[in-house]
Amino acid sequence: MNRDTISEVLHFIDGERIASSDSAVLDNIEPATGEALGTIAAGSSADVEKAVTAANRALPRWSQLSADTRSSHLEQLAAAIEENLDELATAESIDNGKPISASRNIDIPRAAANLRFFAGAARYQRDEAYRTRLPGDDLWNVAVKKPIGVAGCISPWNLPLYLFTWKIAPALAAGCTVVGKPSELTPATADLLARAAQKVDFPAGVLNIVQGAGSTAGASIVAHPGIPALSFTGGTATGASIATIAAPMFKKTLLELGGKNPTVVFADADLDEAIEGATSAAFSNQGQICLCGSRILVEKSIQEEFTGRLVERASAMKIGDPLEESTEVGALVSAAHRDKVERCLSVATQEGGTILCGGERAAPSGRCSEGYFLSPAVVTGLESNARTNQEEIFGPVATIIGFDDETSAIEIANDVRYGLAASVWTRDIDRALRVSEKLEAGTVWVNCWMKRDLRTVFGGLKDSGLGREGGTESLAFFQEATNVCIRFDSKG
Ligand code: NDP
Repeated sequence: MNRDTISEVLHFIDGERIASSDSAVLDNIEPATGEALGTIAAGSSADVEKAVTAANRALPRWSQLSADTRSSHLEQLAAAIEENLDELATAESIDNGKPISASRNIDIPRAAANLRFFAGAARYQRDEAYRTRLPGDDLWNVAVKKPIGVAGCISPWNLPLYLFTWKIAPALAAGCTVVGKPSELTPATADLLARAAQKVDFPAGVLNIVQGAGSTAGASIVAHPGIPALSFTGGTATGASIATIAAPMFKKTLLELGGKNPTVVFADADLDEAIEGATSAAFSNQGQICLCGSRILVEKSIQEEFTGRLVERASAMKIGDPLEESTEVGALVSAAHRDKVERCLSVATQEGGTILCGGERAAPSGRCSEGYFLSPAVVTGLESNARTNQEEIFGPVATIIGFDDETSAIEIANDVRYGLAASVWTRDIDRALRVSEKLEAGTVWVNCWMKRDLRTVFGGLKDSGLGREGGTESLAFFQEATNVCIRFDSKG
């Protein structure tokens, strides 16, 4: 890929890639090298205003199109992503630091799948009608679904195009127009999506992307009175601050927030599979997935063996240039984030924990020698109430906590403010079902992790979020329903 393609990231407003109104830019840094990649247009409230105006102008036409026509536009965009898979995957890995194997096999295919899925979902969305017979009256109640208007879609840096499209696709499919903002840390693939939209003649003003910082561009989207719905994925603290602005404006708000997810391993589990699963859950994407299993709960009778084998597996993971095919662990997204993870590891030691492996700066030699790499860390010896077991670290750090029995496993698993996801490893189907029902989590995987069917409901309990995405839930979020009650003469 030619790096010049992503050296100047611009807004996408009313079908044009443009600079900020005040020409302001931010630097974009490549995490694997620490070097400047180029600049990003730094959006302000003036740019958001322009985007909302364009989105409002495009709304009547887009929302009146047949579901079939809207779906065709989304499918063309999906096809453009698929045609550009290599370029997008390389850009994602350069911009984010994630291994190219992940970008090529997970992130970018999933971005295309999001658009295709919601193109299909819009075609098959059902309408609701109820026949109501009352003494003297016969009625049809029909729920008329309408797009809510201009949707604000704000996404984080960990799965950049994957999560950006997960938000904009249902909004567009539902007939909304969009003002979206990717993270300023990973803006490149959204900019390439804008180019793809131009290439397939995606109608101007329907998808608008304002680049820039959360505190300016993001905050302006949240506060804009012309945006009645906000779909946000990011940290819990940001979600809470968005809610305080959105709630008094009665904006419909969907919040997908942080997690501190348990991986619960019972002694009867297939140990080979559980170790592989726990390793992926803990360290995929350098531990920077909201669904990562950062607390590994292990039944005490197998704790010693499990810990030894997990440490061996984690230590063997290949840290390398994100652009190399064999790399398993890439760079963390920024120097600031790497420093934060290191501070969390210091806290772990101060609390009395033992770092059994990893947690060291591990930049590969050559072009990546100044990059933000940390080796996967396994920490033991901490109680469930330790900060290390309570706070989201969002890096390549997993703790191991022993448990005595099913009851204590559930108690420890639920002993956090978060409730996003969990995985349970056991061969006992009764136990799997019992435990799954008692876990406070929006998603529970049994003998697997991160398997997704886009039709299924997705979201967080407790401080992990508000509302649900996935399948019809996502579409419904971007719609308002009006019940039309029709009295008719059924007797003739
Ligand atoms: P942040 O909350 O910092 O940022 C998320 C997005 O919000 C970014 O685009 C950011 O912009 C923007 N933003 C920041 N401040 C504001 C604001 N005041 N108003 C509006 N927008 C704002 O999260 P991270 O990007 O650091 O992502 C990591 C977090 O996301 C983790 O906590 C993780 O668990 C969570 N997450 C949750 C998922 C879920 O499905 N539940 C999935 C993936 C991640 P900018 O980056 O430019 O500042």
